[in-house]
Amino acid sequence: MHRPIHELTDAYRRGGLTPTAVAEAYLARIDALDGRVGAYLTVVREQALAAARESELRWRAGKPLGPLDGVPVALKDVLCTRGVRTTCGSKMLEAFVPPYDATVVARLRAAGAVILGKTNMDEFAMGSSTELSVFHPTRNPWDLARVPGGSSGGSAAAVAGGLAAGSFGSDTGGSIRQPAAFCGVVGMKPTYGRVSRYGLVALASSLDQIGPFAQDVRDAALLLGVVAGHDRRDATSIAAPVPDYIAELPKGVAGLTLGLPDEYFIDGMDPDVERAVRAAIEVLKGLGARVERVSLPTTKHSLAAYYLILPAEASSNLARYDGVKFGLRVPGRDLVEMESRTRAAGFGAEVKRRIMLGTYALSAGYYDAYYGKAQSVRTLVRREFAAAFARVDLIVAPTTPNVAFKHGEKEDPLSMYLNDVFTIPGNLSGIPGVSVPCGFSGAGLPIGLQVLGRPLDEARVLRAAYAYEQATPWRSRRPELTA
Ligand code: GLN
Repeated sequence: MHRPIHELTDAYRRGGLTPTAVAEAYLARIDALDGRVGAYLTVVREQALAAARESELRWRAGKPLGPLDGVPVALKDVLCTRGVRTTCGSKMLEAFVPPYDATVVARLRAAGAVILGKTNMDEFAMGSSTELSVFHPTRNPWDLARVPGGSSGGSAAAVAGGLAAGSFGSDTGGSIRQPAAFCGVVGMKPTYGRVSRYGLVALASSLDQIGPFAQDVRDAALLLGVVAGHDRRDATSIAAPVPDYIAELPKGVAGLTLGLPDEYFIDGMDPDVERAVRAAIEVLKGLGARVERVSLPTTKHSLAAYYLILPAEASSNLARYDGVKFGLRVPGRDLVEMESRTRAAGFGAEVKRRIMLGTYALSAGYYDAYYGKAQSVRTLVRREFAAAFARVDLIVAPTTPNVAFKHGEKEDPLSMYLNDVFTIPGNLSGIPGVSVPCGFSGAGLPIGLQVLGRPLDEARVLRAAYAYEQATPWRSRRPELTA
């Protein structure tokens, strides 16, 4: 089941495999194994088989809709799917059935993709371990005692475990790149505005971005190419042409200058991670890249700024769950009591924590000291990246300071937040970034190399990740999952 998308569609073309057989095989594997992994919240078996049968007719007629026709994909349960419940991992939306598809979902359907189901996530995408889903935790296919990362842990585990050929998640502070690193798959956060957020349940609107998880870089390029591009339904969507990402891949890294930020190698990081990332940089040098040190001094303040900006935006976005318009309603004597009972029952502890922090940070009297200050830090982070990218083409760094941790290991919120130190600056500045597997720890757990690029330069980010991937053996190793 670990066949990349491009191999599947080659086989469809030659007639060696059919979309129906592949969809059935994935569904059977989900039946057999997902009880242990917990990647999915909802599996849409009949819909998937119906889509696969239609795709099969197109392939048979020699008229596929494109390179994703008949390919089974999974969607993080934060993406609205028409007629299919979209829970955000929360009791609040347990029974919410959207009346429309997110733009990403509509584009995937129009490309013939076979949607298998909706994947597990930390409640409202707040978290780094997928332990904060109200339904069940997701387990890392490499070691079921460990977390898959989060908040898009279900989407990462689905691809790592061979339970979907590719998947989509959302990345507000690292929620694609960190679980990709923990699960040994490729995960990409595009430039803010590259992919439409229409139909993505909002966490922090100035940071949220949708992106793919894939078995290899070529598949990530393919998946991104299908969903990227302007959408008039998202006011922040960028009206720039989308390059042919796959055509750019073979260009290699010879002649490119890679920046190595001093601040991304910190005390307390896992020595296995540092070793793997430094070795990856040597590989890139061997492929002809030049490596230069760069400094991004505001990195150390990014986490603090993020944990003011995100709660501020989240607290206002989550105000819509009032028992009137969406989801859960717990009756009360009057409107105020109904609303407070609904929110008390519908949100988990982490969501409540962030709503309170955000409301506080935005309150009159504290606004300048907290929210205003955090926005200033955000500007500095952006400027430092811009200054670095005036000298270098790409930045390479670890995706995370550590490998996947054990379930229950990070009980206090702060130690969970610290997981995202290397991914958050990319969200604050809006730049694109990918995590590509770069080896394993002594205990056999995957490690991710992060490649960051200039705004809208996804093509070069993917091209460097591809060059690295092609020069290394990591993608041939897959977790062994047995029923
Ligand atoms: N782990 C981060 C947080 O909890 C990132 C979340 C995300 O990217 N959705 O906010």
